[in-house]
Amino acid sequence: MKTTLLGAPIDTLTMKESVEKIAGFIKSGQPHRVLTLNPEFLYQAQFEPELMELARRAALVTPDGIGIVWACRMAGRRGVVRVTGIDLMLSLVHRAAREGWRVYLLGAAPGVAEEAAGRLRQDYPGLQVAGTHHGYFSDEEAAGVAEMVRQNQPQLIFVALGAPKQEQWIDRYLEQTGASVAVGVGGSFDVIAGKVRRAPQWLQRLHLEWLARLLREPSRWRRQLVLPRFVWMVIKRYRL
Ligand code: UDP
Repeated sequence: MKTTLLGAPIDTLTMKESVEKIAGFIKSGQPHRVLTLNPEFLYQAQFEPELMELARRAALVTPDGIGIVWACRMAGRRGVVRVTGIDLMLSLVHRAAREGWRVYLLGAAPGVAEEAAGRLRQDYPGLQVAGTHHGYFSDEEAAGVAEMVRQNQPQLIFVALGAPKQEQWIDRYLEQTGASVAVGVGGSFDVIAGKVRRAPQWLQRLHLEWLARLLREPSRWRRQLVLPRFVWMVIKRYRL
């Protein structure tokens, strides 16, 4: 099922259904973009049509976090659940190990993608990691990176460059890589490699993971200042 929130399409699927849908994309062999949509991206997209276009061109848009789920509720869309980037990545890796999909990890600081790949291989025996590459390359180098990815022939690429850089890279280069699916996963490699700790389960259950992150990484304050504006935008559009 699909719904629309502030002009952006959102797939209202569970985690299991999202993974199933992506499995279909991989079987098709055709390129598909997956966007894990957070409030910052959706807010920015109201002022930058280019970002809204990225959301419209995605084959699957998941509600990345409680902010989007809450906004869907305010807009009267029922039954929308969280499908966050990190959880989606782990569910896909689990499936990839079973199905033999070749995965590629692109992004994060030098060394982090390799470390994350090592942990994933340990946790999901049989996982085929086609390759890894860090995410600190210039615009001039971006096409060369895509070519390097292509040579490793992955089917599924996880791109961790932060939003919207990762979505822009995917938009521009997915076809060139020859992969069937690319998913933007933000800071997930840092978490998997153990560089950044995720909030404890009980905080996640209370939907307060964002708060834990904010306290741990105070530099996010500026970025999260957009959240109250997002809340107000949603209330104005759907409730007033
Ligand atoms: N990153 C990168 N290249 C860049 C900028 C950032 O690879 O030019 C990485 C960064 O190291 C981190 C991730 O992208 O691993 C962004 O993490 P963040 O938590 O900010 O993701 P977001 O919340 O934006 O999805």
